[in-house]
Amino acid sequence: MTFALGVDVGGTKCLGVVVDEDGTLVTEARRPTPHGDDALIDTLEEIVGDLSSSVEPGIAIGIGLPGLITTSGVLRSSPNLPGVVELDLAGRLGARLDRVVRVTNDATAAAFAEWRVGAGRGVDDLVMVTLGTGIGGGVVAGGRLVVGANGFTGEFGHMVVDPNGPPCPCGRRGCWERYASGSGLAQLARVEAVGRRLPNVVAMAGGDAALVRGEHVQAAARAGDADAIAVVDKFARWVALGLVNLTNALDPAMFVLGGGLAEGADLYLGPIQRWFGELLYAPHLRPHPRLAFAELGAHAGAIGCALLAAER
Ligand SMILES: [Zn+2]
Repeated sequence: MTFALGVDVGGTKCLGVVVDEDGTLVTEARRPTPHGDDALIDTLEEIVGDLSSSVEPGIAIGIGLPGLITTSGVLRSSPNLPGVVELDLAGRLGARLDRVVRVTNDATAAAFAEWRVGAGRGVDDLVMVTLGTGIGGGVVAGGRLVVGANGFTGEFGHMVVDPNGPPCPCGRRGCWERYASGSGLAQLARVEAVGRRLPNVVAMAGGDAALVRGEHVQAAARAGDADAIAVVDKFARWVALGLVNLTNALDPAMFVLGGGLAEGADLYLGPIQRWFGELLYAPHLRPHPRLAFAELGAHAGAIGCALLAAER
C-alpha cells in the first residue's frame, strides 16, 4: 500500500502525519512551531525525517500553512506565523529535501480531507468553514477543489458583515470572524457579562467578566442557563448570516463546519439551522444545504496535505 505524508503548520505546533490512501492515520509527529523562516524550514525537515521511514523514498510531501499561499507554494503573509513573510517554502524545502513539496492553505487542505475521507464524502458541491480563533475554509464545486486564480479561495473570515463593526487584524472593520469565530463568541459573551446579564457564566469564569471564554458559555448553556442559551442563539445568528452569504454566492449542497467550535456541535446546530432559514433568500423555494460537523478533527489539515501531495 502507498502511504502519503503531510505536515500542518499551526500557530503553536506543527503536526506531521503519514496516512494510507483512505486517509487512515499510520503515524504522526509533532514539534512546536518556531519563529522565523529558517527555523521553520529546519523544523519541517526534522518532522519529515521523523516520518520518512514509513513512506517510500522520494514521494511528494504536502505542507499546509495558515495565510495566503500562492499556487506555486509561496507564503505571502500569515497573521499567525510572525517573522514569516514572502517565503518560497515549496522551493526552499523542496531543494533541502530533494523532492517535490506541495504547499497549500491549511483550511483548503482540511476541506479537501473532509471531502475525500471525512464528513463530505461523495458530495460534489460543498463548502467547509472552520470556526476557530478566526474563520477559514475551502470550496469543492462540481467535484473539484477550488483554489482560485491565485490560490486564495476560502478567506471567508474577512467577508465584511458590518462596515462599522469592531476592527479586524486584517485592517478592515466588522469582518465575519469578529463575530462568528471562537473569539467572536467570547466577545459576545463578555459584552453581556459586563452588562451583568450573565451571572452564572461570570461565576464560572471566577467572577471576572473580562475572563469569560466561549467554553464557559457552552458549559452554562448545556446546564440549561437561559442567559447563556440566549448568547448561543445570538452567536448562531452570526454564523448563519455568513453561511447565507456563502450560499448566495456558491449554492453548495452541504456545509462542513470544523475548527474548535465543532466541539459544541450539539448546542449550535439547531439554532444555526433556524437562523439560516430566517435569513436565506426565498427559503421556501429551494433545498437548504445540509449542515454537518467535520469528522477528522485537528488532523484534517495534515491529512488533506498528505492526500493532495499524493494525488497531484
Ligand atoms: Zn478581517
